[in-house]
Amino acid sequence: MTAPAGDTISARLAAVRAAIADAAAAAGRDPRAITLVAVSKTNPAEAIAEAIAAGQRVFGENRVQEAQAKFPELRRRHPDLELRLIGHLQSNKAADAVALFDVIESIDSTKLARAIAKEMRRQDRHPRCLIQVNIGAEPQKSGIEVDAVAELAALCRDELGLPVEGLMCIPPAEGDPSPHFQRLAALADRLGLPVRSMGMSGDYPKAIACGATHVRVGTAIFGSRPYP
Ligand SMILES: *Cc1c(COP(=O)(O)O)cnc(C)c1O
Repeated sequence: MTAPAGDTISARLAAVRAAIADAAAAAGRDPRAITLVAVSKTNPAEAIAEAIAAGQRVFGENRVQEAQAKFPELRRRHPDLELRLIGHLQSNKAADAVALFDVIESIDSTKLARAIAKEMRRQDRHPRCLIQVNIGAEPQKSGIEVDAVAELAALCRDELGLPVEGLMCIPPAEGDPSPHFQRLAALADRLGLPVRSMGMSGDYPKAIACGATHVRVGTAIFGSRPYP
């Protein structure tokens, strides 16, 4: 079956890039200060290859095992890919995550930070790191509480020597995400961290208005996912 014109990965990518440029212009920001992270979780390597053919280089995956199955081969063909872990990471998977990813966006506990630091020393591989913040204080969600971010950031940077460059959040599904985005940006400012990873398919223009440097967009590029 052929997809209708305008409904290909390459067309959707172009539309997302245009929307990023529009949102940046509206906010008086340079669009080059915003990185599009194409969230390829649950999508097959062929779909990722289509995005690569359309010029996309930065990808996000939420499961270590799934990324291990898809990316080594794609990377052999395209050594300039950047792979970012955006999902919850268990400490016992830190070794695999440090070995595979270029950026780990989901540090959310001192235990995990210590496990990652230990693996970085052991492997002498140093993926950049973000701290995931539970910005809406939702009990079911990953991320460190807002009140504990400064302490975790200090531990990561000063004691463990982790290359922490910013914060990441997923705001509550209900309600206006903008106040949450603003709070994350203010928190990053206060800690002197330049990277703010925030905004998904439903709200990335709003995140850009609030200062996102990285937007993580899946569905709007790859279409709706076969499973969550
Ligand atoms: C799945 C996922 C995204 C992308 O979500 P879409 O709504 O498909 O754009 C972004 N961030 C995280 C952490 C995700 O798990």
